[in-house]
Amino acid sequence: MESQKKLSRTFSFEFYPPKTAEGRGSLAQTCAQLGQLGPRFMSVTFGAGGSTREGTFETVREIMAHGFDAAPHISCVGSSRDQLRQILRSYMALGVRHLVALRGDLPSGAVAAGELRYANELVEFIRAETGSHFHIEVAAYPETHPQAKSAAADRINFRRKVFAGANSAITQYFYNADSYFRFVEDCEDLGLDIAIVPGIMPITNFKQLARFSDACGAEIPRWIRRRLEDYGEDLEAIRAFGLDVTTELCDRLLAAGAPGLHFYTLNRAGPTNTIWERLAL
Ligand code: FAD
Repeated sequence: MESQKKLSRTFSFEFYPPKTAEGRGSLAQTCAQLGQLGPRFMSVTFGAGGSTREGTFETVREIMAHGFDAAPHISCVGSSRDQLRQILRSYMALGVRHLVALRGDLPSGAVAAGELRYANELVEFIRAETGSHFHIEVAAYPETHPQAKSAAADRINFRRKVFAGANSAITQYFYNADSYFRFVEDCEDLGLDIAIVPGIMPITNFKQLARFSDACGAEIPRWIRRRLEDYGEDLEAIRAFGLDVTTELCDRLLAAGAPGLHFYTLNRAGPTNTIWERLAL
């Protein structure tokens, strides 16, 4: 963790593009509230295969119109080089300087794989098309990506993204701090010297969290899962316990030298705000 400690810390918030007018109104409020905390950037997810392309672009434009730095996510699966080129041009024209580059996952039933197979090829493509214009973030998996052949192969594949030109990384969420510390050490052993910022998923809804975790391979440790199951429909108890667990995780990560935190906000300000206040950031 030593080399990461030298860097200034980065705090960022992630949103998804709202689908309704009501959702847009509530996201504007969330951005205004969380914007007061002074994040380095706000990122906006992208539906693989371009399913939310317009929504991502519009949300990025709104965030920038409020004076915040925005980082659109861009994924290559299901897209052609030409489509990706157009997206990059539109973001450059908007004044975007920061991207989160991903392979993405195609929605079930979709078949068109796209021209680039992995995120390292996307990073290479962005660098070839736009030079050093963008600061590029990539995804990292302390608990190993679910499709990886092995943990070691996954780390080597992570290194490909860094060698292709990524500037920093954001992790999949996790609740086991040791998996993150070990991942960072492994990356240092591989000669990688980039900031790897932990992705933080506040716990507020057990069923939703269990669904996300099954899909992305993030483990909910047994002791947390059992406690959340016991609370049943008592949302207040889930929220209180979830905030305690997540705050303690963040505290431990920062104390050990993590170079910042990236919050998966699910477009809500409350949980992130509470954790922020408790950490006295
Ligand atoms: P890659 O780095 O390409 O890795 C995918 C798999 O292929 C891994 O198992 C890896 O080990 C393997 N691999 C990588 N390179 C090679 C290679 N050259 N040869 C052989 N095998 C290889 N998804 C979305 O659709 N939209 C989003 O906005 C979005 N945002 C995200 C933000 C963050 C911070 C994170 C952590 C994830 C996000 N995702 C998003 C999910 C992500 O798209 C999925 O996890 C996807 O399955 C992998 O994307 P990746 O960029 O990590 O892929």
